[in-house]
Amino acid sequence: ITFEELGLGPDSLKTLEKIGFETPSKIQAAFIPIALTGRDCSGQARTGTGKTAAFALPMLERLDLSKKGVHGIVLSPTRELSEQIANEFERLSDDRCKAACIVGGRSMDRQVKALKAGAQVVIGTPGRVIDLIGRGQLDLSKVEVAVLDEADRMLDIGFRPDIEKILRKCPSDRQTLLLSATMPNEVEGLAAKFMKNPERIDM
Ligand code: AMP
Repeated sequence: ITFEELGLGPDSLKTLEKIGFETPSKIQAAFIPIALTGRDCSGQARTGTGKTAAFALPMLERLDLSKKGVHGIVLSPTRELSEQIANEFERLSDDRCKAACIVGGRSMDRQVKALKAGAQVVIGTPGRVIDLIGRGQLDLSKVEVAVLDEADRMLDIGFRPDIEKILRKCPSDRQTLLLSATMPNEVEGLAAKFMKNPERIDM
């Protein structure tokens, strides 16, 4: 199967060719067509399987990148992972998408500047995201796609209350995507509470 057959548009296909992604990975082949329809989708996938592109490509495809303001949010458990995801977003969008990485332990000033400069996708850890919402610097009222990456690790760290607060700040008609290496009851519970009839992909 090819990326074109998965339903990606010409901009994404051109970028994928440029960065040398030739064939979709298993999780990409399963996840991308469903996510492109706008349906909620949860996928069991470990790091190294190409899971970042599995959610980033359909997100880039569905968001209107000519509009300013935060239309997508990705929550991840750590600063390092968030920074990795932000880099992958820039690469996969060929710099068409402005991403702001909102994580603890980094300059808040720079993060606020990135938001004010019109960031379209926020990628970050739940603690700092809550912090900036509380300071009135981050508005999630226009979010169309929310992603919970490594959901099992975020719950292990104790981010559940923050994740719930953040999702409640997003419109209820958003699309929610969830990726997790394991699917324990806690993750199933989160999905049941915040996702609408999600398609589930097990690898
Ligand atoms: P991830 O599991 O998202 O952390 O991705 C692992 C690595 O594989 C990253 O360096 C990606 O850029 C790369 N990658 C993801 N999907 C593909 C693909 N379809 N073809 C080639 N490399 C890929």
